[in-house]
Amino acid sequence: MKTIKLTAFLFVILFFMNSSPTNAAGAVKILYTVTFPEAQAHYADIEMNISGLDQNTLDLKMPVWTPGSYLVREFAKNVESFSAAANNKTIPSPKINKNTWHINTAGLSSVTIKYRVYCFEISVRTSFVDASHGFLSTSGLFIYPDKMLNTPSTIKIIPYKGWTTVSTSLDAVNGDQFIRHSPNFDILFDSPIEVGTQDVFGFDAAGVKYEVCMVGGGNYDKEQLKKDMAKIAEQETAVFGENPNKHYVFIVHNRQRNGGGLEHLSSTTLGASRDNYSNASGYRNFLSLVAHEHFHLWNVKRLRPIVLGPFDYDNENYTTDLWIAEGFTAYYQNLILRHAQIMDPETYLSAITGEINIIENQPGAKIQPLAEASFDAWIKSYRPNENSSNTGISYYDKGAAVAMLLDLEIINDTKGKNSLDDVMKYMYDTYYKQKKRGYTDEEFKQGLEKFAGKNLDEFYKNYVYGLTPLDYNKYLAYAGYKATDDAANSNDPSLGIATTESNGKKFVTVVQRGGAGWVDGINVNDELVAIDGTPITDVATMLNGKKPGDQISVSVLRDGLAVALPVTLLRNNRFKYKVDSLPGVTPGQMVVRKKWLGLVD
Ligand SMILES: [Zn+2]
Repeated sequence: MKTIKLTAFLFVILFFMNSSPTNAAGAVKILYTVTFPEAQAHYADIEMNISGLDQNTLDLKMPVWTPGSYLVREFAKNVESFSAAANNKTIPSPKINKNTWHINTAGLSSVTIKYRVYCFEISVRTSFVDASHGFLSTSGLFIYPDKMLNTPSTIKIIPYKGWTTVSTSLDAVNGDQFIRHSPNFDILFDSPIEVGTQDVFGFDAAGVKYEVCMVGGGNYDKEQLKKDMAKIAEQETAVFGENPNKHYVFIVHNRQRNGGGLEHLSSTTLGASRDNYSNASGYRNFLSLVAHEHFHLWNVKRLRPIVLGPFDYDNENYTTDLWIAEGFTAYYQNLILRHAQIMDPETYLSAITGEINIIENQPGAKIQPLAEASFDAWIKSYRPNENSSNTGISYYDKGAAVAMLLDLEIINDTKGKNSLDDVMKYMYDTYYKQKKRGYTDEEFKQGLEKFAGKNLDEFYKNYVYGLTPLDYNKYLAYAGYKATDDAANSNDPSLGIATTESNGKKFVTVVQRGGAGWVDGINVNDELVAIDGTPITDVATMLNGKKPGDQISVSVLRDGLAVALPVTLLRNNRFKYKVDSLPGVTPGQMVVRKKWLGLVD
């Protein structure tokens, strides 16, 4: 009965949809013209012409977030001077909520919308314009007609004086780099545009034409970058068995200090420190970032959790699978460099060691399960505060560690025949290519089980949904390695706080859960003044000669008032893991090690 009712209801809806004007979207044409009359004051001016309309009303919306960065950013806050006109006359365009403008279009076939966007937020996910260049993060720049996300659009860019070049993965129209075409809004919002005087170079790899667009200068070695980035592209393509792009663009923002990246379907935006390319670890970190964001063109942009596309641009899009989308990508960012023989095995193992220490020294790892960290990304990891390390865990760090355990499990179970690579390829083939949809939590687990050859209920219960500490040594032993804690026998005392210096004064920034400061009431923002009456210098040095259980007096200034706190020192419980080879590695362990680390004889 319910089903029949629903079918009848659906029929009515479909009938109205078919006869409704929104279905005329095929005839609707959208042209955006972007100008920069006041680039020096950080404005992009947008004119949007919509023609082919046949409907009584039109709602125009600005997305509230940008895919890949799980935070509601309220891009409409940067919009001003919004106006609408038809037949050369202004028409009313009232706002009906924070990001929607409503227009009466009865009898009108076309309207022209104008608005200005203030672009002064420096990040890979927000627009920035000044006299030297414009970075257009499209999801925060272009409004879209509600219920017409499938409509194509043309974007015409009129550059500011002196700007010569446009870099984006959107196709040029008739070879004109200043006119670009987008097949639909999901692609437009996934294709940032850089316009300015950037240094552009290219290379071919994995059958794809790669374009690298360097903004802001830097001491990079172009020839070396071409070689290394090509190796990364080839290595990652080999994991998935195909590269779905014909053309891919790296937009790199070089600044005095910069980092981070944002993935897109056929491009990425990376932040880099302009003088760091000549430094070995700085260069390696840049290549890790390249490997991370480029790996995303499969993992999350195409092989994706089911809720991450098509997107709801009005609201949070919740998923418990960011530990796969981001954590697995974080795992691969270094593994790919290792397999491409760019990173040596020792450096790779020390990166693993660093990851283990980050997780194990984070009190929040005992509070927040991995799946929950993913689901709450919108309100927790993207809105950190002074207590974040006590209450949460990064789905990047722990997700990468879990990926490592799974990779070792699969390699060991199949005696070196399969690895996590085979799961990624299988999932990509099955869900992106064949079923043309995202995966559910259960489906990804089944993909892992297929190659691990065993049920992973317990693994998921402990490590994904639960708080069981990761048993690194069980899995590292498969490859003949062991993680040991160098600090296990130390009896150093600690206050369990982190501090920062400002104008010669020392302020508390973090109070570690369960530490001496936590137990005895040191607060974040307290200014440390003295310990046992001696003016504060270096806290660790001042605790020399003391032991856990000793009582000290910590003098602080709290909101301008002097407070003396009796504090009982506790043992410094920070772990200092290192990963070493086990003695007497067996041939079986060597098979796993070689496959895992891509060792060549
Ligand atoms: Zn990522």
